[in-house]
Amino acid sequence: MIIIKTPAEIEAMRVAGKRHASILEKLSGLVRPGISTGELDRAAEMMVKEYGDTPAFLGYKPDGADRPFPATLCISVNDEVVHGIPDDNRILNEGDIVSIDLGLWHDGVVTDAAVTVPVGKISKQLEDLLSATEDALEIGIAAAQPGAQTGDVGYAIESFVNKRYGIVREFSGHGVGRMIHEDPYIPNFGKSGTGERLVPGMTIAIEPMLNIGKAGIEMLDDGYTVVTHDGKQSAHFEHTILITETGNEILTKK
Ligand code: MG
Repeated sequence: MIIIKTPAEIEAMRVAGKRHASILEKLSGLVRPGISTGELDRAAEMMVKEYGDTPAFLGYKPDGADRPFPATLCISVNDEVVHGIPDDNRILNEGDIVSIDLGLWHDGVVTDAAVTVPVGKISKQLEDLLSATEDALEIGIAAAQPGAQTGDVGYAIESFVNKRYGIVREFSGHGVGRMIHEDPYIPNFGKSGTGERLVPGMTIAIEPMLNIGKAGIEMLDDGYTVVTHDGKQSAHFEHTILITETGNEILTKK
């Protein structure tokens, strides 16, 4: 069921989104060779709680998982696509790329956003992957107009990517706000003129995941970490947006 948010919920999501953006920006600033993903996670938890808010992924048990997620952030390095578990023994190295995904509860509503950032100096190939994935997110957001359909968003992203990268198909954007994952699902590929219609008051997360190599993925034995099948790197950018009468508003932006 698609949930149209009330004006009060939308206002709370605006506040949450600004905090969310500021936390992701501060975390990105902490990323450097030698820092562990566990350290980034503790910093994130402190920042969320400083505002009096609650980490949304910590303790969240997705359908099919056999235990709740154990951390504030999903941190996914290099060939890890999404849902990597932070670890004090996982040290970031120069040339890595790291996806930082945060869910934030504030005043009864939840926002979802992610960035992928370079660790020190990265290769031109990885720079291109990061900018293409960020651009794919922007293109998807531009397609998420009132009256458009979820397939239009996927179509826009897939056309933009134009087979330059593998588009992960098993995970997709989604409604968000009263729950972390709500209807509708918003794949990063598809046909225009198909899927659910976007209407004002809907709040959705759009989140393309692009792989340098092929689209195929697999899950590690920890039950969470998703990696590329071919071992090549993957990037992920995500925003929570509001569909308005005239377009949309990015909520997870400062
Ligand atoms: Mg999400």
